[in-house]
Amino acid sequence: MKTYIGDSKLEGKGTFAKHLLKKSEHIKTLSGEIITLDEVWKRIENSEENYDDPLNLNEELFLDLDEPSRQINHSCNPNAGMRGQSELFAIRDINPNEEITYDYSTTVGTHIPSEIWHMKCNCGEKNCRKVIANVLSIPKKQLEEYKKLGALQDYIFKQLKSTK
Ligand SMILES: [Zn+2]
Repeated sequence: MKTYIGDSKLEGKGTFAKHLLKKSEHIKTLSGEIITLDEVWKRIENSEENYDDPLNLNEELFLDLDEPSRQINHSCNPNAGMRGQSELFAIRDINPNEEITYDYSTTVGTHIPSEIWHMKCNCGEKNCRKVIANVLSIPKKQLEEYKKLGALQDYIFKQLKSTK
């Protein structure tokens, strides 16, 4: 394991680097139960789940993240990103004991409008967006940067190609 869970300055628990993680290095593959959107709704209605927690894998399927996988906070100026389906990797060098964050908007596709999902942010970064929503809510320049880094899930890359 390259990470450990500890108290976050951002919110609740967070995930931290055990040692130096080099830019583009694999950190961990997020895991959980694969469920459909219908099942997500069912779990939310039964208060078994918060809407913020399941991770989109594509337009139909979600990963109901296991406990360690959901202890990674969002930042508007993150040091990690998501690639493939659910692989977390470093988008710059991450120092030992530095909290690992990724931009949640990079995992929420254009099929989820902001009326359905948005989240307040208080990450304290200069470029904090205050309210985050799907991938199109990311400022253009930053989105281009994520694209260059490969820090978008496969299905998001596909969606962005077909919306242009
Ligand atoms: Zn923020």
